[in-house]
Amino acid sequence: MFDHTNPRVHSLRLGLGRAYLLEFPSGMVLVDCGSPGQEHKVIRAMHRLGRSDLRLIFITHAHLDHYGSAAAVRRLCGAPVAIHRLDAAAMARAQTEVGTARSLGHIIRIALPLAESLLRPEPLQADLLLEDGEDLGIADLKATVLHVPGHTAGSACLIVQDRLAFAGDLILTTGYPRSQKFFAQDWSLISSSVRRLQAQHPEWVYPGHGKSALHGDELQKLEARKIND
Ligand SMILES: [Zn+2]
Ligand SMILES: [Zn+2]
Repeated sequence: MFDHTNPRVHSLRLGLGRAYLLEFPSGMVLVDCGSPGQEHKVIRAMHRLGRSDLRLIFITHAHLDHYGSAAAVRRLCGAPVAIHRLDAAAMARAQTEVGTARSLGHIIRIALPLAESLLRPEPLQADLLLEDGEDLGIADLKATVLHVPGHTAGSACLIVQDRLAFAGDLILTTGYPRSQKFFAQDWSLISSSVRRLQAQHPEWVYPGHGKSALHGDELQKLEARKIND
């Protein structure tokens, strides 16, 4: 579990995906919501912290390992669900549009229909449709939306207090840190989206998959590696 002050960041493994509970004085924000059927882990984590004031569920993109339990958490906590407007329709249809695959992505792509039939993601109509640069307007938490298209058309990072970046599937730390290499609806945009994130100069980057947060210095090195791929 990562722990930074203001806000405190609690990392949750929710089935196939990783989610983050941000704890700050006037409430909590959940970034992503894992696979379907993982809502009890979110509720348990909040109980452990003695909190019940979930203010928002921010979804980085419309893949079932990121929004899968969001409908259930919304029912249990009453918090609104927010996603970039370009991914809202796919989430409302409970579709996971992966685009084209590379490398290990080919194997995962073959397994996806089975995962969908087993996990049965729930269609989810967002409460808030987000735009690039939008401030989420949460008291004592500065949280802005950074549109990083490529993996999906509406992939977005959440930039918190100008120093923490929640990157969804743009950045992965499974194995060595890297930008998205498995799935993209538009591969040509991944590089520029990584550069957009680098330009924010976050101190820490929290990936959608992987065990650890990435230090900002490591993020700055990523693009060189990507260009040389
Ligand atoms: Zn994804
Ligand atoms: Zn993912």
